[in-house]
Amino acid sequence: MFGLSITGRTLRFSTLALLATLWTALPADSALAQTASRKPATPLKVFISVDMEGLAGVVTSGDVGGTNGDYQYFRKRAAEEANAAIAGALRAGATEVVVRDSHGAKQNILPTDRDRRARLLRGASTGPKNMMEGLDSSFAAVVFIGYHASAGTPNAILAHTSNGNVVDFAINGVSLPEGGYNALVAGLYNVPVVFVSGDRAAVDQLRGLLGRVDGVAVKQEIGTAILGMSPAEAQDAIRLGVERAVRARAQYRPYRLAPPYNMVLKVKRDGKTFDGAVSAAAGEYRYTNADLLKVLEAFNALK
Ligand SMILES: [Zn+2]
Repeated sequence: MFGLSITGRTLRFSTLALLATLWTALPADSALAQTASRKPATPLKVFISVDMEGLAGVVTSGDVGGTNGDYQYFRKRAAEEANAAIAGALRAGATEVVVRDSHGAKQNILPTDRDRRARLLRGASTGPKNMMEGLDSSFAAVVFIGYHASAGTPNAILAHTSNGNVVDFAINGVSLPEGGYNALVAGLYNVPVVFVSGDRAAVDQLRGLLGRVDGVAVKQEIGTAILGMSPAEAQDAIRLGVERAVRARAQYRPYRLAPPYNMVLKVKRDGKTFDGAVSAAAGEYRYTNADLLKVLEAFNALK
C-alpha cells in the first residue's frame, strides 16, 4: 500500500487526500476554525464612578463647573482618567466596563472622549444610587476616580459631601464621605471597591473606612493650593493601579454596615421634609430604615 512516512509514522494516502480537501474547504479564519480555537471569555464586569474634584490638577470649583474655560479643559482630563481606568480594567481581563459620570449634572465626559470599549452612563438620574446608578450584583469590582473627602475634612481639596448644604452625613454613627456611602451601595450588591484615585485626604479617608483598598493620591493640599502629579503621570498610575486592583479583586471585601440604618444628617439650611424623617434639632434630621436605598432616598430629599 502506498504511504508517506512522517516522523516514523505512516499515513494512508486516502487520509492525506481527505485532509487536503478539508484544508482547502476551510480557510484559516473560518467561523468553524475560530470556534474550535477560542474559549468564551469568563464574564468580568467593572464599574467606574468618575467625579472631578479629585482629578490631577483640579484646585478650585471653577475647574469643575461653570463657564470658566478651565472646566472645558478638566472635563477632558476626566475622560482621560476614566480611559486610564478602563484600560487597566481591560488589561486585568474585564469583559464589560461601565463608566458612571458622577459629578454635578453627570454630563462632564463628552461621549466621543471616552474609550469606545466601555459604556458611558451619562446624565442625572432620579434614583437613590446617584453616583452609583447602573450598578448591580452582576459587577465584580468598583473603581472610584477623581474622588474627594467629606465636608469639613482638614487638608483636603474641595472637600464636601454631595452639595454645599451638607455638614455631615452619618449612618450608624459612621461619618460618610461620598466614597463611603457609594461603597455601601456597592456592598449592598456584594461588590467590593478595589481602587480609588483622588487627593491624599480622600484616599486616606476611604482607607480609614473600608480598610484595604488600592489607590493613587494624585495630589495633596498645601494651604489650599495643591502639589501633585501631571495628568499623564496620574493616568499611568491609575492604569497600572486599576489593573493591579481588579486582578486582586478577591482580596477586597464589600463594605457594609449592619441594618437597620440610622441616619443622622446635619445641614446648614434645613426646612425640607421626608416621610418618616424627624428634625431632631436645628439643622439635623434623623431617619431609620432597614433598606439602605430608602435611607439614601431620604438623604437626597433632605440634603
Ligand atoms: Zn463632584
